[in-house]
Amino acid sequence: MAVTEPAPVALPPAHEGILRRQALRESAARTYARSLPIVPVRARGMTIEGADGRRYLDCLSGAGTLALGHNHPVVLEAIRKVIDSGAPLHVLDLATPVKDAFTTELFSTLPRELADDARVQFCGPAGTDAVEAALKLVRVASGRSGLLAFTGAYHGMTAGALAASGGATDVGVTRLPFPHTYRCPFGAGGEHGAELAARWTEYLLDDPKGGVPAPAGMILEPVQGEGGVNPAPDRWMRRMREITQERSIALIADEVQTGVGRTGTFWAVEHSGVVPDVMVLSKAIGGSLPLAVIVYRSALDLWRPGAHAGTFRGNQLAMAAGAATLAYVRENQLAERAGTLGARMLARLQALSADHPSIGDVRGRGLMIGIELVDPEAEPLTVTDEKGSAPPPDPALAAAVQQECLHRGLIVEVGGRHSAVVRLLPPLTLTDEQAVAVVDRLADALRAAERSPYRRAAAGQTR
Ligand code: PMP
Repeated sequence: MAVTEPAPVALPPAHEGILRRQALRESAARTYARSLPIVPVRARGMTIEGADGRRYLDCLSGAGTLALGHNHPVVLEAIRKVIDSGAPLHVLDLATPVKDAFTTELFSTLPRELADDARVQFCGPAGTDAVEAALKLVRVASGRSGLLAFTGAYHGMTAGALAASGGATDVGVTRLPFPHTYRCPFGAGGEHGAELAARWTEYLLDDPKGGVPAPAGMILEPVQGEGGVNPAPDRWMRRMREITQERSIALIADEVQTGVGRTGTFWAVEHSGVVPDVMVLSKAIGGSLPLAVIVYRSALDLWRPGAHAGTFRGNQLAMAAGAATLAYVRENQLAERAGTLGARMLARLQALSADHPSIGDVRGRGLMIGIELVDPEAEPLTVTDEKGSAPPPDPALAAAVQQECLHRGLIVEVGGRHSAVVRLLPPLTLTDEQAVAVVDRLADALRAAERSPYRRAAAGQTR
């Protein structure tokens, strides 16, 4: 009798094991890993290669961190140079040539009026650390403890930053309306809606019975990122500057996500010409490694030694990578490039909305773009825009679009107040061809998602 070989057991691919072990061992609080089940093993520019051999165009860029994309040669060279030099990699807040060069480069990019009179504080390495530092700074300097912050804001996950974010409640924080054209809280939209928001702010601050705890500062994002890509109109930004200046309230611009060319100018405050008192910087300033700082007017520098300390304030590799990134963006006018390419992508996406009633709104600035998906057949929400009524957001469709994008080799983010905004944050080095490919794949994904049964199944759970 012939001996038959046992049939070979088909082993699952290695990446499936990694994903399975991640799901078993990592926290329930994990985020991107849930909607983007990929295992990146190599990356260059805008392309990520997964352990399964698939390639993806990355429009997430480490949540907006990678201004130059993955592993840009100038970033790698800067990192190698530090390693090969024998310099210490970790030095608390001691002075080093690498830090000195980073600070010089950073100051050369700041609005002139601030750069001429600025102090920089190196804090813990995350954006949220820098937000905490900024809040502490303005409270110490003013002797007041209240804070003005906006609906839809996101400033981080530590206690103070979270309290300033839109989803939180905190007795010391006065929540003000952020202008929003598509879902304008005043039913006006555009410049008029923004002016009404500014008037409400002014009125509340001057109302002796307004219930506003004396504010040390006002914190705002020039373009709200996590809140669903909501650009602040330039005029409104100038109004906030006037309102804060007249009342000696420090204006804090959180440029963690908007900085380093992302919105079409080096810093997003430049669109309006506003010079804030404090700027909060992280993400791209570390050239893909963790780094965060605040820069502020010297008059605010009234805190004591050790007032805001932390062990990891001296990451030399991040400072070198960051200085190389800032210099590359500046020398190659990548902010202008982001503005041009972003406007082109925005126009193509807006054109797409003519055939897709599920595209409620397309908005953004530079290469920070959001597409709000809605259910055109559902009853409108009570708040209305200037054109009439905005249909309710459709988070299930946004989730389905994200999955369909992934199937087509495109990584996008979903965010916004109702998780219904598909977000694009490509690197500033994106080529014309890649920009076309992104919009093509997204359009195709939207068509598929609109037909998908997944959408109908998910819709039952989320509404
Ligand atoms: N501010 C803004 C505007 C942000 O977008 C973020 C992060 N998305 C943060 C602060 C917090 O940064 P981090 O996650 O590094 O703490």
